[in-house]
Amino acid sequence: MISRSEFIKSIDGLKQTLEDLAGKGHRGFDCSDSSLEKLAGWGASPGPIFETLQDIRLDVGRCQRCRLAKGRKNVVFGSGSPAAKLLFVGEGPGFEEDQQGEPFVGPAGQLLTKIIAAIHLSREQVYICNIVKCRPPQNRNPQPDEIETCLQFLDRQIAAIQPDFICALGTVASQTLLNTATPISRLRGRFHDYKGIKLLPTYHPAYLLRNPEKKRDVWEDMKMLMKEYQYET
Ligand code: URA
Repeated sequence: MISRSEFIKSIDGLKQTLEDLAGKGHRGFDCSDSSLEKLAGWGASPGPIFETLQDIRLDVGRCQRCRLAKGRKNVVFGSGSPAAKLLFVGEGPGFEEDQQGEPFVGPAGQLLTKIIAAIHLSREQVYICNIVKCRPPQNRNPQPDEIETCLQFLDRQIAAIQPDFICALGTVASQTLLNTATPISRLRGRFHDYKGIKLLPTYHPAYLLRNPEKKRDVWEDMKMLMKEYQYET
């Protein structure tokens, strides 16, 4: 798959080539069957150019790619705007999310909704999803092989949405996306780079429910995010 900017660059290149040819007096192309057949044989097909969230959801299907499939009720793909500038990434669905097939709709989700409102946005304006799309049993952390299997879908969601910002919620999301074992307490509080996107790690809302004194830190992170978001958009 190629990115939108790579696609635009190739179209610009093609336009330039056609203009150069026109400048040299070329006025048409040989579209005979034999020429088209020859062209069809040049290189392998590059595959789909753009993928939408719907395409990715179809590919996830009733996923059986890892052991989490056994215990889940619903795949929790993600929700929100496909053109969101801000993407929130959690760890994995909990009980309520598994029941409803929607991310962050349980108690931690209600807190996340308040956090989003505090930065003057709504759940419909942002996109919310998780590192793994199926609920781990007893809400345990997703295991490395489960993350590895599922991560292609998040990567493709990010490529489809092209957000300006990612807010990684908690240890699993932050450490996975930044490919580090550094504790969340040392990752939060500043932007990191994720494939050219500004990524801000912060504490997970479920952690905040158990440690309300950390809400102050998350509010500091959200103020930083809001400032950059307003500057960028
Ligand atoms: N916790 C998460 O990490 N994700 C959800 O969707 C819900 C709770």
